[in-house]
Amino acid sequence: MDHFNYRNHELYCEDVRVADLAARYGTPLYIYSKATITHHLDTLNKAFKTLNPLVCYSVKANSNLGILKVVGEHGDGFDVVSGGELGRVLKAGGTADRTVFAGVGKTDPEIAAAIQAGVLMFNVESEEELAAINRVAESLGKVAPVALRVNPDVDPKTHRYISTGKKESKFGMDIDRSLRLAQEAVHMKHITMIGMHMHIGSQITTVEPYGHAAEKGVEIIGQLRAMGHPIKWYNMGGGFGIAYRGGEAKAIKAFAEVIVPKVATTGCRLAMEPGRVVVGNAGILVSQVIFTKKSGDKRFLIQDAAMNDLIRPSLYEAFHRIWPVHVAEGLACPPENYESEIPGTETWDIVGPVCESGDFLAKDRHLPRLATGDLLATFSAGAYGMVMASNYNTRPRAAEILVSGDKAQLVRRRETFEDLVGPELIALD
Ligand SMILES: *Cc1c(COP(=O)(O)O)cnc(C)c1O
Repeated sequence: MDHFNYRNHELYCEDVRVADLAARYGTPLYIYSKATITHHLDTLNKAFKTLNPLVCYSVKANSNLGILKVVGEHGDGFDVVSGGELGRVLKAGGTADRTVFAGVGKTDPEIAAAIQAGVLMFNVESEEELAAINRVAESLGKVAPVALRVNPDVDPKTHRYISTGKKESKFGMDIDRSLRLAQEAVHMKHITMIGMHMHIGSQITTVEPYGHAAEKGVEIIGQLRAMGHPIKWYNMGGGFGIAYRGGEAKAIKAFAEVIVPKVATTGCRLAMEPGRVVVGNAGILVSQVIFTKKSGDKRFLIQDAAMNDLIRPSLYEAFHRIWPVHVAEGLACPPENYESEIPGTETWDIVGPVCESGDFLAKDRHLPRLATGDLLATFSAGAYGMVMASNYNTRPRAAEILVSGDKAQLVRRRETFEDLVGPELIALD
């Protein structure tokens, strides 16, 4: 469910006309729907209600302060992977005691800052990290709450770049290592192990991997408790997939039906770290056609959003629905099914101006007839979009708008040339 709809052949975000925003703020332009974000947060809280859940929104999916403020005001927590992300949470009014800190390479200053801020817990990814947290906490005269990040060795059947819960992953520790470390941790005076953490991957569209992971998680929690660790949090991580095409991901409720009964047997509170499922389809990227061009048998739509704005198609060959902002009669909404020819459409490669053959948003895509100046919407661009944007080709990053009802707020202005060259220090006389 999202709040991007066509009315009278025009795309709206909630009650705001997308074309009006493009005219006012320019393109490429990210537009987010607040109602879509809060809808997903409500759905998550409701589906897992019996486990007294803490939804820790995964900041790395979209870290705009305006979005973090929406999450914090909704009463939810955060999952951060760097000192910078923790800083964003605190700046946006989020509270540290609802924030979990993950990441394989936490530095001493980051650990110290998180302890001082009072994070809910560290998700610990290695033996050396646990020793570092214990040492830093000791130097501060504190006891740091931790959870071990365990790899349950399940295959989430997602893209290999976003699979994280296999035994040979960079993240977390395999079960045997985790248990050995937990045994050593019994004697560490400046940590308290209050949780167990797993995060098996991203864009997971089936429930089975979570079922397998939860079975192992329940068993591990029993073993940790037997060692004397006061485990009260079961952190299941994030990873719920969304429908980029339409209908391919299971609903949140279906995931809950598999996870809840298993976790309930531990008596733990549930922490979860959803990112994509919260913001993914709460955002679109609006672009404008600069030129159309033919090359051999191919038709290229060259528009002003590029791989530096949204890298997912180039990086993961990810699919995003793309459709004009203004549509002709009879083509009122983007089709759910792109596999078949759509009457009245032409086949295009949708590319950007960046000088790389890998710079595309879509290939061989059926679209209504389009011309220079037309606006396009790339859907489901709210997660892992702007956060991965770069200045490659000295392209200023896009502006971002947060819409709520009939109100639109500029939550990040478009970068200027000066923003890009400002940090460079060469003398130019
Ligand atoms: C990236 C990440 C998440 C969020 O993943 P989604 O697929 O966006 O839900 C959660 N937890 C950890 C540890 C992560 O690295």
